[in-house]
Amino acid sequence: MSQKISGVKGMNDILPPDSRIWRRVESAAREVFDRFGYEEIRTPIVEDTALFVRGVGEGTDIVGKEMYTFEDKSGRSLSLRPEGTAPAARAYIEHSVHNLEPVTHWFYIGPMFRYERMKTGRYRQFWQIGAEAFGVKEPAQDVELMDLVVQFLRALQVPNVSLSINSLGDDACRPKYLAALVDYLSRHRDALCAECRERIDRNPLRVLDCKNEGCRRVTQGAPSILEFLCGPCRAHFDEVKRQLSLLGLKYEVDPRMARGLDYYTRTAFEFIAEHPSLGTASAVGGGGRYDKLVSSLGGLEIPAVGFALGVDRICLLLSEQPHADRAPDLFIATADDKAKDEALKLVSSLRREGFRIEFDGRGGSLKSQMKRADKSLARFALVLGENELTMRAAQLKPLRGGEPKSVSLDALPAALSAS
Ligand code: ATP
Ligand code: MG
Repeated sequence: MSQKISGVKGMNDILPPDSRIWRRVESAAREVFDRFGYEEIRTPIVEDTALFVRGVGEGTDIVGKEMYTFEDKSGRSLSLRPEGTAPAARAYIEHSVHNLEPVTHWFYIGPMFRYERMKTGRYRQFWQIGAEAFGVKEPAQDVELMDLVVQFLRALQVPNVSLSINSLGDDACRPKYLAALVDYLSRHRDALCAECRERIDRNPLRVLDCKNEGCRRVTQGAPSILEFLCGPCRAHFDEVKRQLSLLGLKYEVDPRMARGLDYYTRTAFEFIAEHPSLGTASAVGGGGRYDKLVSSLGGLEIPAVGFALGVDRICLLLSEQPHADRAPDLFIATADDKAKDEALKLVSSLRREGFRIEFDGRGGSLKSQMKRADKSLARFALVLGENELTMRAAQLKPLRGGEPKSVSLDALPAALSAS
């Protein structure tokens, strides 16, 4: 035997039965996006490295440390996408979408790549479900997206998720806050981790995002950005809060939430799960407003807001809940080889009509086939043999209690639907 080859560390295979949960999450997302009028986009997994350097920010962990960057055969620097917003904005600009419609509502579902230290809920390939809204600067757009996430998580019955919000201000007020923050952090320099000491000058907001215990203690006492907001940013934030309450959406204000990306302006939000095994990977999703992103990538001044949810983490939270899969409707067994052709035709035609039919091509003794029928958890079993083929009828046997009854083969769809 040749030597085994393993999968790449931090990149998971998603196999049954887990893949069922994944499918459920994705279809719930599509259903909710449909209700809100968001259309799907699919952008490439690989982009020009410059897109992320400019779009996400050079000083972020994502771009500075976590990107899978490589040269293609012509020497271009490409990167596996670490997030979905910069690619969405790139596509929005490239296809002049603002000329086609004043407001654009998009969603995406797909894998992202970050070279991170792995643990439960933190992987190197992970999946995100995200949405982007371009063209609306009003707070109602921010609130619509939060409402969408709440409705999605509720549809899936994800337990114990809370919403935190903050405002990160804009070009008018953030610089003053950053100056106060740098001043505070410099005074507490010694209590910060080595990385954060470096961040003070390079990217002070990132210190607020550090998961190190010591840094967290320092940032608890840091000045609050909310005290620095300019009039328009304050009005925007107040209106977001008022509308959240109007819709009955519970939230907490967390003035020290900064999010990991550089492009946010004004509203930032995060959905956090109470779950012991997730630890510092407890954010199931987050988002915010990024009114400067489109113009910084060479487009017009188009306001935008969006979010991204971590599918892996949502599936982890759901994997502990019991949930009913769709059981097979019928297991068809064959008494002898002569019945096989007839069985194949019957299986195919019932499947065409929408029934979930189990059939085991290995055949074998009736006893072993009935064992498989039990294991399949099908609602009914049916044996096809010479007798059944001559009579064009068979015994439909319930596998979870009840009496068998004779059903004509032509009437099988009706019998399966009725029970
Ligand atoms: P965290 O604070 O957990 O590092 P983040 O701020 O880096 O998250 P975002 O870039 O906002 O995360 O991505 C949105 C969501 O994607 C996160 O809330 C999380 O659920 C998920 N996510 C981010 N990074 C990973 C990862 N390495 N593995 C699994 N899920 C992830
Ligand atoms: Mg992160």
